[in-house]
Amino acid sequence: MAICDLLRRFQITEYCVVPIKKEFVIYAHKLENIGFRHDTAIVCLFPYFVSDYPANAVLTRYASCPDYHIVAGRILSQVCGELRALFPGCGFSSYTDDSPYAEKDLAASGGLVIRGRNDIGLSEKYGQLFFIGEIVTDAPIAHEYRTPPVCCEDAPCVRACPTGAIGRGGFNRERCLSSISQKGGAEFSTEDARLFRAARYAWGCDICLNACVRNKGLLATHIKEFYDIMPYISSKDLEGLSNRTYREKYKGRAFAGRGRAAMMRNLRHLKENNKWNF
Ligand code: SF4
Ligand code: SF4
Repeated sequence: MAICDLLRRFQITEYCVVPIKKEFVIYAHKLENIGFRHDTAIVCLFPYFVSDYPANAVLTRYASCPDYHIVAGRILSQVCGELRALFPGCGFSSYTDDSPYAEKDLAASGGLVIRGRNDIGLSEKYGQLFFIGEIVTDAPIAHEYRTPPVCCEDAPCVRACPTGAIGRGGFNRERCLSSISQKGGAEFSTEDARLFRAARYAWGCDICLNACVRNKGLLATHIKEFYDIMPYISSKDLEGLSNRTYREKYKGRAFAGRGRAAMMRNLRHLKENNKWNF
């Protein structure tokens, strides 16, 4: 069976198969004790766009979805099971974010994604609303490359960004509200607090994603778990929770791991800045 047919059975149509180069390694310690040579990566995209996402959402689309590590991880581990049967004696491991490799670079090496001007991965079919996961293997699987998408000339994302994080000279993570919102801790630095006055979301930032021309007219995801969205959260929801019970309550959501204090801080700043929109 061809790899494309196998992946299609799991509704994975956006993928590439690429050789793994040394420069993709970002966490070498994760390569220890693997038991087989990582030669090849099958890099797959998992779309999470759902239509009718509320315009006054407090959580961004990605933060509102159930944890993709679990969802995509389950799909990839089923694919690995089938691949092991097809290639007896070969090794297969799957990763979703916990990879030894720079996943965006792996995907970019196969033409599957590029880095958009806003530094978020951009794919031909799923715009910027997808997660990446990969299977690494020593099996003799033919490499497959895609024609990479391109960013638009007009770049409405640059005009939409309220902090100037997307400049003509490149992307400045220090000014990005998504990055600032995801910092741990109970208080922002003075500069982060100043920038956060422009925030519209308690976790992440969808402002440039909403402006991006490549995110218009997307098909809603086929992955049913991603419809279990949670667009809202308020400080009332967090009342009486310890850090442990907060993590338990929101287990499986992208923001749970940073702890209650970080979410409380963000909600407090939104409220002080009169951006609490529900
Ligand atoms: S996520 Fe928000 S702050 Fe970051 S680049 Fe996009 S619009 Fe700017
Ligand atoms: S709006 Fe245009 S320039 Fe900005 S990320 Fe989207 S495609 Fe790229």
